[in-house]
Amino acid sequence: MKERETERLAGLAAFHEAMTAIVASLDLDETLAAIARAVTRVARCDIGAIFLSDEASGDLLIRATYGNRSPDWNHLRLGEKGINREAFRTGRVQRVDDYHALPFEVQIDSPIVHAEPLRSTIAAPVRRRHRRLGAIGGYRREVRPFTADDESFLSLLADQAAIALDNALAYQELGAARGRLEVLIATTDAIWRPLPFRQIAGLVVRQAARILPGIECLIAVVEPERPHLLEFVAGTPGWAESKVGVRHRLADTRLAGQVLRDCVTLETVHYSALSAIAGEMAGQTGIDTARLIPLLAEGSPSDRRAGLGILSFYRRGQTPFSSEERALMDEFAKRVSIALHRAELLDTAGETAARQREAIEAAADLSGSLEPEEVIRRVLVRSVAAARADRGVLLRIDGSETIVEDYHDESGFEDVPGYRALIASQPLMEEAISTRRPVFGGRYHLQALPSPIREAVASVQHTATLPLVLDDRVVAVLVLSRREDRVFLASDLVTLELIANQAALALGNARLFAHAREVSRAQSDFLNMAAHELRTPLSVIAGYVSMLLDGSFGESPPGWRRPVETIQGKTRELEELIADLLMASRLEAGRLTLSQVEIDLQEAARQAVERAQPRAILMKAKLTQKAAPAPVPALADAEHLGRILDNLLNNALTYSPPPGRVQVSMAVGARPGIRVSDSGFGIPPVERERIFERFYRIDDPDLRHLPGTGLGLSIGRDLALRMGGSLELESSLPGKGSVFIVRLPRVTPER
Ligand code: ADP
Repeated sequence: MKERETERLAGLAAFHEAMTAIVASLDLDETLAAIARAVTRVARCDIGAIFLSDEASGDLLIRATYGNRSPDWNHLRLGEKGINREAFRTGRVQRVDDYHALPFEVQIDSPIVHAEPLRSTIAAPVRRRHRRLGAIGGYRREVRPFTADDESFLSLLADQAAIALDNALAYQELGAARGRLEVLIATTDAIWRPLPFRQIAGLVVRQAARILPGIECLIAVVEPERPHLLEFVAGTPGWAESKVGVRHRLADTRLAGQVLRDCVTLETVHYSALSAIAGEMAGQTGIDTARLIPLLAEGSPSDRRAGLGILSFYRRGQTPFSSEERALMDEFAKRVSIALHRAELLDTAGETAARQREAIEAAADLSGSLEPEEVIRRVLVRSVAAARADRGVLLRIDGSETIVEDYHDESGFEDVPGYRALIASQPLMEEAISTRRPVFGGRYHLQALPSPIREAVASVQHTATLPLVLDDRVVAVLVLSRREDRVFLASDLVTLELIANQAALALGNARLFAHAREVSRAQSDFLNMAAHELRTPLSVIAGYVSMLLDGSFGESPPGWRRPVETIQGKTRELEELIADLLMASRLEAGRLTLSQVEIDLQEAARQAVERAQPRAILMKAKLTQKAAPAPVPALADAEHLGRILDNLLNNALTYSPPPGRVQVSMAVGARPGIRVSDSGFGIPPVERERIFERFYRIDDPDLRHLPGTGLGLSIGRDLALRMGGSLELESSLPGKGSVFIVRLPRVTPER
């Protein structure tokens, strides 16, 4: 009796201790382990176990064991069998005196039955406020049936376990909620960092994997330039990740197509049956549960897409997602949409800026040449690059036809320069020309094209036809093509129009220049020819005139001398004019030789003054030279410099009302030179540069009678430039006089 009392007290103490142990921790795993252990204490058995019901599958899953030998407990699947299942189902304690003796169909079919072995067995339901949580089981390795006492102790333990589990679960839920919150905050944080979208997508799926264990996550997007393609850009490690980079035509994916078109979320537990792609995927992975959420932009995208992409979640088997999981998935989708939209905007902004920079560079490059052929080349190469195209063709318009002027093809395909086609037979061309706006198009109709062109454009998928408009006239048409399947977008227009405008301008300029050069070449050819033809008869005239004057034909009648002298003067003027013409044409043709040596500018100036002095005296002008303290060395061709100075002095005397004052002085320093100042009529500011143009003379009624050709300054400047120097009008005041300065390169001291 005493013994039984002691045993009872010891039992009570063990019971008390076990009951305390299971509420000692709030950690779920620790609580579960304590419960399994408590079972062995309270029911005085060898092995204790706890099973919890899985909400999604309704199955009882083993969660902790104590005292077992076999590790197979971890893989225990109860299904509909076993006494724990029975206790859970009926809500009553179950006792079996010898598990081995049970009919085979009732036993759980697991190796542990024999390994442990399981003999006397007891199981109690774990319930909390009418909610069935699971069951606890106790096992003895020998046949020693459990008593009614054991049963009531185990029931008490089950109630206590329910409370402990409730707390631990609530605590875990709290932890999980906080974890999810943290992940969502972290996701949001990541999304607001200016990262490329693909990187953000990677971050999002990694976080989804953390808070949605056992669920695969995939992000697919539709790029603006490929509105008919869906591309997987990120996936959780494993199967989903292996899909990254794969593209599907939207038309082929029934499900995704529907999600995007109708902007609806789709969830199914029969995924494999819904589409061919899904069937194939489920075949490999066993996935049958899926939730596909459309990623939508705030407002609708500005292009042809219905949505930006799809965020999808997958799970093996056919258990639907819980409402909590759905809420999380939808929350993720919202964030991914924002990130995707933002990344696209950022990309577009960055890209537009980059392309505009490119277009501006291209523009600068286009205006860098005036050769029409070179300009056309540059227009083609630059516009193909800036528009990210593969091919560009420039066409001229001739009446009702287009003519291929030139082309540039990145893949080396040819075209047919000179190929003519009726505008009316090219609808896009016709539209571009009549609206004066770029027109986008798709593939070519190949039948009508000649063979080299047909081959070149066979793989072209998208075109942009840009009219090049100058002064409201379409001067040419540029057709850009992409072989890659990327449509031209409205956002490309900015760049394309910039290029088209610049190209039109560059072409216009090049054509004008070519025309001007043509005219000028004809002019100079004529001058050259005329000058040569005039020179011979003129030298005969000059010869006879001087013979008349020097008496070779006998004494001339007294009244003849003045007229003959006038003839001689005018003949000289003509000779000078012819010399100027020849010089101008020689300069133009680049047929001028230079022999540049070190000379003293002061000396060159002195000789020029000496040559001009007789004319100054004749005109009663005062021509002086202001001496410099030392020689002024410079590099020059003495003959050419002399010619420049003669012209400057001549002009200074010619364009100064008597009595003129002309002074020559030196400029020293880094750019040595000679100044010619006069007290003449001066030059109006608007004429400052024009006087250096060929044949230009200031149109002043008072000066019109003065001799001159308008060639002197232009020849002078040309010669100065060729010697590496310059000729400038330094200053001028109408009515007060002008200062011209010719500068020449300094002699660099030898090292
Ligand atoms: P030309 O003297 O044969 O007409 P130039 O090329 O030497 O040709 O000069 C061009 C024009 O510049 C002259 O016609 C004249 O109108 C103006 N010009 C040149 N030099 C002077 C000057 N020193 N003072 C005023 N006008 C000048």
